Amino acid sequence: MNRPFRNNCNFIKAKKSLGQNFCIDERIPNEIIKELAPDKDFCVWEIGPGKGALTKRLIETGADIHLFEIDKRMEEILESLCPKENITWGDFLELDINELPVPTKPLLVCGNLPYYCGTHIIKQFLEKGPTPTRLVFLLQHEVALKASVPVNHKEYSYLSVHTALFAKARIGNKYGPASFVPQPKIDSSVLILEPFQLSEEERQKRIKALIFISALFTQRRKMALSTLKKTFSEINWAERFAKLGIDEKARPENISPEQFLELFGNL
Ligand code: SAM
Repeated sequence: MNRPFRNNCNFIKAKKSLGQNFCIDERIPNEIIKELAPDKDFCVWEIGPGKGALTKRLIETGADIHLFEIDKRMEEILESLCPKENITWGDFLELDINELPVPTKPLLVCGNLPYYCGTHIIKQFLEKGPTPTRLVFLLQHEVALKASVPVNHKEYSYLSVHTALFAKARIGNKYGPASFVPQPKIDSSVLILEPFQLSEEERQKRIKALIFISALFTQRRKMALSTLKKTFSEINWAERFAKLGIDEKARPENISPEQFLELFGNL
């Protein structure tokens, strides 16, 4: 089974529908490993290992590795790197949370995520768990930026608030199309997330607040108070804004995650 890695993978053509842009730039695994900081005291889940560009580096760290890959054509390559029982085949987003492997050590999660479902995978970890110590992903630059910017930044959006309610987020380095085969049309960046340890009650409170926050960001250019008055008219929003010291003319992009939580957290 130990055929040369390069010969094996060159036969497999990238599928656009699965977001397959394979990494050919050593700086990417280097950065992910540095930020993830795995060692033998951690379990590491890699989402979308593909041809194993990052997997090989993860194995060298001595951590307990588990792989999640949708494309069975990668079976021979991945089983040459990792025991069969440490690989789950299928759509990560379709897996039943109760059937996920139970980590026996603190969990780290990483991956060069497919563009079409990267945001969903992040939301799933933050909203439903399990809650890893750290997540380090390569994503389209725009998503990594939105997920990590603070209030009043021009890219501050629903995703920024969503991420900030569940984790501390930071953007890493940016990589151009030449770092991948086939080359995507856009740049990619590393996103580092350190989730908060929240009680189930607190997590549910934040998920509920997101219903209001999402309604606001669908009309991000409008004043938040006026959108709320129209959409959820049974609540005295003007009084709430005044109590929390939020400017009545504020747009969604001017309201911080903490203020959103105070505004909607106890409804
Ligand atoms: N990690 C490899 C690399 O860096 O070269 C591959 C990255 S490629 C951008 C994304 C990988 O995610 C592919 O291997 C693809 O088959 C896999 N994938 C796509 N959708 C998936 C899903 N829903 N669940 C699990 N894996 C998925």
